[in-house]
Amino acid sequence: MQDISKEYDVLIVGAGPAGSNAAISYKKLNPGLRVGLIDKAIFPRDKSCGDAIGPGVISALKRFNNEHILDDEPQVVSTTLYGPDNIGIQNYIPEVKNKEDSIVYVIPRIDLDNRILNLAKNSDVDVIEGLNFVSFEEDVNKNIVVKFKNQDEEFLFSTRLLIGADGANSRVRKQLNLKPNSDWHKAIAIRAYVDSPNYIEIFKERTLMFEINVSAEKGYAWAFPSKGSLLNIGIGVPVSIFKKDKLNINKLLEDFINQLESRGVIVENIRKQKSYMLPFASSRPKLNKDMNVALIGDASSMINPMSGEGIFYGMEAGYLLAKNTNELIGSEKLSSGISKYEKEFSKRFRKHYLSCALARLILQSPFMTKRLLKVASNDQDTIDFVVELLFDEAYLTLTEVFKITYKFLIPTRLLAFISKN
Ligand SMILES: Cc1cc2nc3c(=O)[nH]c(=O)nc-3n(C[C@H](O)[C@H](O)[C@H](O)COP(=O)(O)OP(=O)(O)OC[C@H]3O[C@@H](n4cnc5c(N)ncnc54)[C@H](O)[C@@H]3O)c2cc1C
Repeated sequence: MQDISKEYDVLIVGAGPAGSNAAISYKKLNPGLRVGLIDKAIFPRDKSCGDAIGPGVISALKRFNNEHILDDEPQVVSTTLYGPDNIGIQNYIPEVKNKEDSIVYVIPRIDLDNRILNLAKNSDVDVIEGLNFVSFEEDVNKNIVVKFKNQDEEFLFSTRLLIGADGANSRVRKQLNLKPNSDWHKAIAIRAYVDSPNYIEIFKERTLMFEINVSAEKGYAWAFPSKGSLLNIGIGVPVSIFKKDKLNINKLLEDFINQLESRGVIVENIRKQKSYMLPFASSRPKLNKDMNVALIGDASSMINPMSGEGIFYGMEAGYLLAKNTNELIGSEKLSSGISKYEKEFSKRFRKHYLSCALARLILQSPFMTKRLLKVASNDQDTIDFVVELLFDEAYLTLTEVFKITYKFLIPTRLLAFISKN
């Protein structure tokens, strides 16, 4: 039997935003804990993503005074939505209700994730890079023995709590015998970086551009401006449709680039094309209650099914898990702390996720997309609500459903008249 290399109170697999923020949270809430954070990659590492972070990530960073990692980043001021027949609408990001800042940044993940990981390193977390998670086993004392490997060797670590933050293809989740999301509840998306010397000039300001149901039917494409002339572009579709229509992800990206060029946007030096899965929160795994193993982030299918945003939910899950368990490490009540975390996360986001899943269904119809954009271009409340679904924790109440249905049904001119008066 191989020796245990290290013993931890909390061992986190995966040092993306979810894993790093969980590690930071445990050390801030309970500095005496021995926290390990292990990733198969050597940082800084790239991750396929739109790179957009909004009010949620800012408030998660502010919780432990870490927002300084966003200093000097340019702010995005608006969103621009396009639908079929070139119907478009540009809108300022409204004051969100649940957060202090209504700000969006676009920061390449190779930088953002490294900055968050550095915060963990500076919080006295034991970070190990370049080790691949292999498997885990519970011993007689309910400790978890975890096996990792690199090219040459295998390592065993023991921990009281194991956290799977190892992303959309989580091996920790697989070992818990929890199935991956079905094709209906996940999307495939491709990201590329390009240089665009005139993007901001064309749109008159730093705007997040979404194009719904155009380059990909039932999917959406994006162009998000980062520092200088750097533009993050990409396109995603639900996997069920991707397979049914035998789509080619690279071809979808080419079509979107043609669309951008037809709007006058110069696209140069297309590079770093990378596709990946997005497991939507419309189908979340249920954990085995007896084991001291928890999942956060993409490993636990936390991505907003409407926007594809996942960084905020993963970071918030890391904090909520730490909040509910940091004082129970080593006690028999640890698994009930994990259940409390699950309940708190679901209670906070269930209605929001459900509303976003419904919005996704509506936006899969080109007719409904056109109608929504027409309604939104005549009615500030509707566009504000759509933007809050994208950037805050908004959800549909019964009154909201009635209001939106009514606005969808009445003629656009009458709606414009009513809104003006
Ligand atoms: C194309 C695309 C665009 C997106 N755009 C946005 C966006 O604009 N804004 C947004 O908020 N979200 C976006 N998302 C979603 C977002 O990328 C994820 O929700 C987010 O990365 C989840 O963070 P995480 O920490 O859970 O997982 P990850 O960021 O995936 O991190 C998981 C980590 O685990 C490590 N790992 C995996 N397996 C192992 C193993 N066996 N052993 C050790 N380590 C392992 C990986 O190396 C990685 O570092 C997008 C996703 C895609 C695919």
